[in-house]
Amino acid sequence: MTSASSTVSAPASIRSVPPESPLVDVMQGAARWEIPVHEHGLIALVDAMPRLVPQGKTGDFAIVQAARVSYGEGTKQVSEDRGLVRYLMRHRHSTPFEMVEFKFHVVMPIFIARQWIRHRTANVNEYSARYSIVPDRFYRPSIENIRQQSSTNRQGGDQPVDVGTAEEFLRLLEEAESSYTRYIGLTERGVARELARTALPVSVYTEWYWKCDLHNIFHFLSLRMDPHAQKEIQDYANAMYRLIQPIVPVAAEAFEDYRLNAMHLTSLEIEALRTGEPLKTTNKREIAEWDAKRARLGR
Ligand SMILES: Cc1cc2nc3c(=O)[nH]c(=O)nc-3n(C[C@H](O)[C@H](O)[C@H](O)COP(=O)(O)OP(=O)(O)OC[C@H]3O[C@@H](n4cnc5c(N)ncnc54)[C@H](O)[C@@H]3O)c2cc1C
Repeated sequence: MTSASSTVSAPASIRSVPPESPLVDVMQGAARWEIPVHEHGLIALVDAMPRLVPQGKTGDFAIVQAARVSYGEGTKQVSEDRGLVRYLMRHRHSTPFEMVEFKFHVVMPIFIARQWIRHRTANVNEYSARYSIVPDRFYRPSIENIRQQSSTNRQGGDQPVDVGTAEEFLRLLEEAESSYTRYIGLTERGVARELARTALPVSVYTEWYWKCDLHNIFHFLSLRMDPHAQKEIQDYANAMYRLIQPIVPVAAEAFEDYRLNAMHLTSLEIEALRTGEPLKTTNKREIAEWDAKRARLGR
């Protein structure tokens, strides 16, 4: 039996090919890049693929490398790499973007985790509240973030509520948090952790490792950085974007230009734009959406 070695070396039967130029770490040797979110939360980038790139390149290198398998070698100028990445993004040629992956450690309240987990294309490993005691951490919005129900968006909130109402809401949250002491007490008296946790509110924090490829991260970000997403998950999505942007600056710029800040027009909208006539529908929501787009277009 061979004993496990603490370092990796390729067996003699494997040809180990040295890099053409020195490789550099896209995370500059750090164990993690971390951004705090709200009072108790955080998102940390803990690994990336590619982690090592040729000197003078960024993580965008892996996108270009994959795309050139299909498009041929062509030239290798940096400016042309940029053009290629932007072409791929514009034409939704997504698989080269899947060659880049990021792994995050995220600490977030359960109500955010519920929204996040709907993104099915990631690999997730979550803290087990059956196995361990849930830590004493609860999300409380700042008072100016206690929002009124929006009158136009049934899922959203907008302006802050008055101070008295906000204070009452904070008292309600505090009451919900007070269940924690009883949760601990009952686990000490023998109630199974898997059952005791059911008495905790959705403002309690959980944590997980979340690994996803860049194509699907951009999909996640386009939905969750959007102003229609709940503010609290937007805060995490914006922090995630800040973590990956320096590693894939060219893809990130293309994402901003062609996805995040771009606009999709329906055939009815194109017709209205072309003829200058009203949108041919009586659907109020669709008309409101068209009005918002026209405002952005300055029409
Ligand atoms: C503002 C907002 C409001 C929302 N409101 C609600 C709500 O009220 N109720 C609710 O239930 N959800 C709601 N959601 C969640 C939403 O419906 C999606 O589940 C979530 O955004 C994940 O999107 P996705 O499926 O495209 O992403 P992912 O799961 O990451 O999938 C990415 C893409 O992969 C493909 N894909 C993944 N899995 C499959 C599969 N099994 N079969 C076929 N294709 C697949 C699809 O093309 C998909 O677009 C909301 C989301 C947002 C952003």
